[in-house]
Formats: sequence, structure tokens, C-alpha cells
Amino acid sequence: MKINEMPIPNHLREAYAKNGIEELYPPQAECVNAGLFNRKNILAAIPTASGKTLIAEMAMQKEVAEGGKCLYIVPLKALASEKYEDFSGKSVKVGIATGDPDQRDEYLGRYDIIVATSEKTDSLIRNKAGWLKSISLLVVDEIHLIGDESRGGTLEMVIAQLRFQNPDMQIIGLSATMGNPESLAKWLDAALITSEWRPVDLREGVYYDGAIHFHGTERLLETPKKDDDLNLLLDTVNEGGQCLVFVSSRRSAEAYAKRAAVTLKKTSPTLDELSKRIGKADTTASGKNLALAVKSGAAFHHAGLPREARAAVEEGFRNGDILCISSTPTLAAGLNLPARRVIIRDYQRYERGAGMNPIPVLEYRQMAGRAGRPRLDPYGEAVLIAKQQRDVDRLFEEFIDAPAEDITSQCQRENELRSHLLALITSGFAQTDGEVRGFMEKSFYASQKSVHRRLDKNIEKTLAYLEKSGMVEREGDEIHGTLFGALTSRLYLDPESAMMIKDGLAGKKFTAFGMLHLLCMTPDMFRFYLKASDEKFVDKILKERSEELLLDDLSEEFFAAIKTALVAEEWISEIGEDSICERFGVGAGDIHAVVENLRWLMHAAGRICHEFAADCDDEMRDLELRVTHGVKEELLPLIALKGIGRVRARRIFDRGITSPEKLMAAEKDEVVSILGATIAKNVLEQAGRRSAKKREQELEESEDEHEEED
Ligand code: ADP
Repeated sequence: MKINEMPIPNHLREAYAKNGIEELYPPQAECVNAGLFNRKNILAAIPTASGKTLIAEMAMQKEVAEGGKCLYIVPLKALASEKYEDFSGKSVKVGIATGDPDQRDEYLGRYDIIVATSEKTDSLIRNKAGWLKSISLLVVDEIHLIGDESRGGTLEMVIAQLRFQNPDMQIIGLSATMGNPESLAKWLDAALITSEWRPVDLREGVYYDGAIHFHGTERLLETPKKDDDLNLLLDTVNEGGQCLVFVSSRRSAEAYAKRAAVTLKKTSPTLDELSKRIGKADTTASGKNLALAVKSGAAFHHAGLPREARAAVEEGFRNGDILCISSTPTLAAGLNLPARRVIIRDYQRYERGAGMNPIPVLEYRQMAGRAGRPRLDPYGEAVLIAKQQRDVDRLFEEFIDAPAEDITSQCQRENELRSHLLALITSGFAQTDGEVRGFMEKSFYASQKSVHRRLDKNIEKTLAYLEKSGMVEREGDEIHGTLFGALTSRLYLDPESAMMIKDGLAGKKFTAFGMLHLLCMTPDMFRFYLKASDEKFVDKILKERSEELLLDDLSEEFFAAIKTALVAEEWISEIGEDSICERFGVGAGDIHAVVENLRWLMHAAGRICHEFAADCDDEMRDLELRVTHGVKEELLPLIALKGIGRVRARRIFDRGITSPEKLMAAEKDEVVSILGATIAKNVLEQAGRRSAKKREQELEESEDEHEEED
């Protein structure tokens, strides 16, 4: 099927032709035959790199040309940016929704295609963004994540609510292969397209004792005898390819990159450049290791790295300078970096309480699917490493030849249901028990027979919880959200978190540490894992600072929250990132994640405090700013100036310039010597405007006083 025959705008056809895209791939053609351009719902469950994005883009461009509006939902912020770039610059207006959770972002209504994460879309629905009603085409990327424990519930409810609001909306679901695509297609009322077709041949095999065993054939490795995982790397590199290596932990990823660097010993000016860039972006021990490995052509990649360092690694790999990346499995879904060979070294994962367990087949497939760069590699290879002979057959059975798992709805989980039922009621989707039930009857949850029986009971229990927590109230048959319930939903909080914050604040004085710990205890906060070596300082805190803690608990979460709150406390005490990382054994990227998470929770807590607690608005606002910028209280006046971050503010403050007013009064040369000419000019202008405004206010206030005296 030719691109030329597609009912898409000319400019898009030309853009594709320029990139050598003229003929549809077979699964793409199937989507067209199934009614892609006739507004039929489609579920495409096909392998990575088989052109799913292109299917969606063609449909969206046609929709826009006919006056429609499209929403493209992705699971991760990083993917939102990637898709935003993909779709931009092709004669349609593309917007990206990444703002804070309690915003309506009405400006997004100006765009033809809006890219958003499922969480952001959910919060837009709760905040009643008007433009959502005009969405005529919904694309859901990685829709199999409906079965994901942590975010599946949100994705499911978002789809259900958008369908409820816009019954004529076309839906295109893009998915990895899964065990039960039929049930998802049925729920979506969609034509199902499944296919194993790939643009590059994928060979899957198991390595053992010097050879890769494929179905029916074998490949003997000629590389010098080193460790298995390095032999496999060298074998590909010697043939001009690159490798992705999946391991089970960050530490293993770092250790592998170190060994790979020593083995590869590649040198080039570009690698030196990249290494320098990384060294600058991440000054922690882990950043130094990465910079060193990259200098020799190897890298690692995990969520503990700051964004700039990750971006440098991705760029270096895409350009062919970096020859291998070792990475944790969590990145298999997000990382769009194909390589000729994917080595799956660790296929077991430690789970607390359950010990070592094999990773799901779905995850194996996503890793294996990264093998083979279209148009660059003659084939792709995914290789598992067996530790003993008898594992070879077992690995074929457990992963290569195994069917992917079924996905199940996550709305059966208590925390998911309480949050989403509250949203249904406060956003006006359902106002009686019957309407709540009616809405949920149409969910994927209800369509799965195995859970259906429990639905009514769970709804009943959850509504009782919400009523008892003061989030909803009844009036005859009707259920309404209370002020507290509506605020909780708009702030995008788990009702349990909102309750903990409200109760924790009630009439109590708090320290910064106490507040941080309280927020770290909520189910909306991610907490650091407590290592055996952490116990000593956590015990010390319990002995010395227990009076500061607003909650009384001795659970595992409680101790993990102490560690996490301590990291945050060091951050707002201006301790350097390197020292924090070293002391707590975390990465710079982790600190950023804590800050990001706490910033949102501080903001939400501030709003709850404003409505329901005693007078603590100022304290909450100051703490929110301290968390955002990582500063002590004394730097807050300076941090209010744009272009002044924690480091610059400290530098100025230590010279005795402690406020914007003092900055104005200081010698200009001194300010320039501290900040450099450009920033000094900008900051002085801002400080000038602020002082003038302040003077005006003071004048007005004193005039008012005089009038009163008269
Ligand atoms: P997926 O979303 O399934 O991972 P993409 O849509 O990103 O895959 O496609 C992978 C690559 O293949 C992209 O570089 C894309 O431009 C290219 N591609 C997609 N469809 C075609 C086609 N019909 N012919 C040639 N290249 C294509």
C-alpha cells in the first residue's frame, strides 16, 4: 500500500517521501484496511519499531485537516517531549501538557495535537479543562500499561472519562504484544491488529559456553575469552554494531560499563567532549564513573542520573560514538534507542518478600524489541545468557517461546478506586450510587470477568470511606463532593494523602523536618529504600528528633520516610548534591525526583493548610520555595529574582548582600564581579522594579493611614 494513496495532507506525504517512507509496512496497511481513516477504533498490538507512531500521525493529520482535535497520551514525560518533537514542524499546531497538576491549562485548547502523560490528562479532567470536550481523536501510546500496577488505574479511568465526555471520539490504542489483546479491543470497541512483523529481522537466542544458540542454528564467538557478557559485546562491536545490556540494578549497570570501557578502549575527540559534558552535568561519584566510561566508548543509563547526563549518553549512542549502554530494566519501556544486539544478562529480579523472580515475558519482549536499527542494521539480535547448560532450554521456554502475560485492570486496587471514584463524583461524571456503578460497569475492570463479582462490594466500601473522610456527602440519593473532596481531587492527591496532611497539620506546630517527614509518609510520595547501613542514623534521628515527627508509627514506610525526609532536609540546608549522594547512597537524579515530588506535595499541603488548618500560610509557602530551590530561609528574598539559583544566591548573600534592596544599594562593579555582566544587568533591573513597586505600596499604605487619622 503506497503512502501516496493515503488520504493525508500533501505536506505530510512530502515529508515522508523525503525520509524514504513510501510504502506502508504490512501492519500499518492492516490498520488502514481496518478503518483507520474511517474513524474506526483501532488497537494495534504490534512489535516495537514496526511503525506505530506513523499510523497515529497519519490519522491525526487527517483529523486535523478535517477540523478535529487530537490528544496523544504517553506514559512518561520524556516520551511526551520526544513525540512533541516528532509531530512538530508539519503544518499542525502541536502543544505539550507538562504543567503543574492543579492547572487547567486552557491555552492548550489552541493546539491541534496535544501530547500529555496520562497523569496530566487525568488532572486536566479533574480541573475541568474546557477543550477536552472537543477532542475528536484520542491516541493512547503503550496502552498495555493499563495493566501496570502503579499507573494502570489512571490510564484506564482517563480513557473511560474521555469516552464518556466525547462519545463520537475515535480511539487508536498502540500497544506492545500482550496475552489478551482481544479483551482490551473488545472494551475499546476496536478492530484488533496483531502482528509479529518487524522491519528488521529479529533473532532471539541464548548464549552459553562460547556460542549463541538460536532455534535451529548456532553462532560460535571468535572473541578472545573474557567474561561471557563482554565476549558478546566484543563480538557485535567487531562487526560494526552496538549493544544494549540489560542488568538488574543500578550498581550492576555501573559495574558493567566500567568493565566494558576497559575492554573497548575506544578513543575519539567526540567521546572526550561527551565525557566532559557528563562530568559537568553530574559531579557525584556516579557521574565521574560515567564520564570515565564514556571516554572509552561505554556508558550506563538509569533513573539515578540527572537528565543532562542521560541526554548526553543517548545522543552519543544514537550518533554511534558510544558503543554500549548498560541499563536497568525499568528503562526498557521508555528508552527509544535501538541497537544491533540486546544482551539480557539479568532476567531475574529481586522482589521484597518474594525473593528472586523471573521478569515478565512482556518485559523481556520490550527489551528484545530494541534489537535492530531499521535501515542501519542487517538484523537485530536479542541474547539471554545462560549460567549452565540446562538453562538453555529453560530460557527458550520461559522467555523466547513463551506467550506474553495477560493484562488485568488495576482499578480493583483500593487506593486506585478511592482516588478515581472521588474524581468521578467531584468532576460531575456521577452523582448517585447508581451513576457511579453505571460508570464503572463500562470500565475495563468490569469487562474482565475474573474481577467483576467484586465490583459492587468494592465500590460500596470505597464510597463509605470517602464519606467517612469528609470528602463526599449524601443528600437523599445524591452524592456530592465536599470542599475538601473537591480540593483533594483537583490537587491530584490520593484521598489518604490529603487526610494524612489535614490530620497531621491540625492545630500542631511543625518544623521543616516534621513537615517533610509527614509528606514523605503519604502514598503519593516515593521513598528511598532503607539499606541495612542506614539503620544507625535512622535510629539516631528517632532518639534525638522524635518530637518533630507529626506521625506516630513504626512501619517500614515510617523509617524509609525518615531517610527520604533527611535527604530533603539536607537539600534545603544547601548541602552539596555530591555530599548528599555520598552520605545516603543515592544518585543526583534521585535528589531531583525527591524535590519534584515534594514540591508538588508542599504546594498541595499549602492549599489544604490554607483551607483547613490554623494560620500557617507563610510557613508553608516559604517551605515550598525552599524545597523548590534548595535553600535556607535566609536566601528566600534573593531567590525571588529570576536567574538567581541556590549557588548564586549564596555567593551574593555571603558578601553581605542579603536582599534585592541591598543589591540595588551595592556597588555595581561588585555585583558584576560576583554574577558576571549579563546576569548582573538583568538582576539589577528586576531588583529596581521590585524596589520601586515596594516604595509605591508603602506610600499608598501611609496615605491610607493618614486618611484614617483625618
Ligand atoms: P514504533 O512507534 O512502532 O516504535 P515508529 O513509528 O517510531 O515505530 O517507527 C520506527 C521507524 O520506522 C521510524 O524511524 C519511522 O520513521 C520508520 N517508519 C515507519 N513506518 C515506515 C514505513 N512505512 N516505511 C519506512 N520507514 C518507516
